[in-house]
Amino acid sequence: MSSGPSSYKIFDVTLKESVAMTPSLQHCVFYSEDVANMARHAPDQRIKVVLPLAGGEPPCLVDNGGWYPAWLALPAERRPPMRTYTLRNVRPAQGELDIDFVRNGDNGPASRWVNHARIGDRLQLIAPNAAFDGNGSGFEWLPPDGVRQVLLVADETALPAALSILESLSAQASPPQVQAFFEVPLCTDVQALDHYTFAKIHWLPREEQPHQPYGQSLLAALQTRLQIPDDAPRTQDEAAQGILRPELEQMWESAAPAHSAFYGWIACESSGVKALRRYLIHSCGLQRETLSLMAYWCHSR
Ligand SMILES: Cc1cc2nc3c(=O)[nH]c(=O)nc-3n(C[C@H](O)[C@H](O)[C@H](O)COP(=O)(O)OP(=O)(O)OC[C@H]3O[C@@H](n4cnc5c(N)ncnc54)[C@H](O)[C@@H]3O)c2cc1C
Repeated sequence: MSSGPSSYKIFDVTLKESVAMTPSLQHCVFYSEDVANMARHAPDQRIKVVLPLAGGEPPCLVDNGGWYPAWLALPAERRPPMRTYTLRNVRPAQGELDIDFVRNGDNGPASRWVNHARIGDRLQLIAPNAAFDGNGSGFEWLPPDGVRQVLLVADETALPAALSILESLSAQASPPQVQAFFEVPLCTDVQALDHYTFAKIHWLPREEQPHQPYGQSLLAALQTRLQIPDDAPRTQDEAAQGILRPELEQMWESAAPAHSAFYGWIACESSGVKALRRYLIHSCGLQRETLSLMAYWCHSR
């Protein structure tokens, strides 16, 4: 008996356009005949980008009963590298979708690919299947009922998702007030976002504070500039604070309040997320159920 369409499926895509949005962020438009079958459930929808093999051969996963078993079944030398990205936009009528890639050198397969990609180059994506009839998955932006204040924290890797979130809020008749803190590599990575009048945006170029760990300028900015609303849920619960023991610290936590005036979406490098989590929950006493905290990448020397 067939179990019905799966939640994610493989899409073959071709690079149609690649434009530098800023020095560190490359906006890529892909074409696929199949885009109408791709779902985007939320502004921070995550997908997998399947990259060429080491020799440059484009990936060619075949979905025989699930993409993951198909990927795992390949011998290691034939298994294409995969990385997680944000589905920035889809335009089914044009057969187009967008992904914004940080250019972080040639060390990793994804950044290396974007640095050298040519129009017409082929990739595969593992993205939500529009034919799936269950609940959508692969996102954390779930603002609770009654939210009036949003905290948005992102580094350059989470900026595509954060900008999508701002875009989606701007479509609301009465969007919540947003305090946004964006850490980017360079002063020239700052983007003009004045049209989001409901948002107070703090840009934090790392080049102004060289030699600081990733996320440090986010932490310093939250410590000095974040205004926590009076009606933000706090926790006085010692047991709940106990979860902050370092050995229990996680790097991916989803907020799950049914109703809250305050909501935080925080995504950046892993050690930065840990530091921000400690500050917001331990020092400020914010209820952890109101905060989504996500490590988007891990700095390794
Ligand atoms: C849910 C989610 C959504 C994401 N969305 C996006 C997105 O839309 N755009 C985007 O660019 N990234 C996004 N990322 C982050 C991206 O997956 C990582 O940066 C990934 O490691 C890049 O892969 P790579 O092949 O370039 O480098 P890897 O092979 O993973 O790493 C190689 C080396 O590069 C370092 N490195 C990795 N990323 C960076 C960086 N940004 N700056 C400096 N050094 C780095 C690593 O520490 C390592 O030393 C997202 C991650 C998650 C979890």
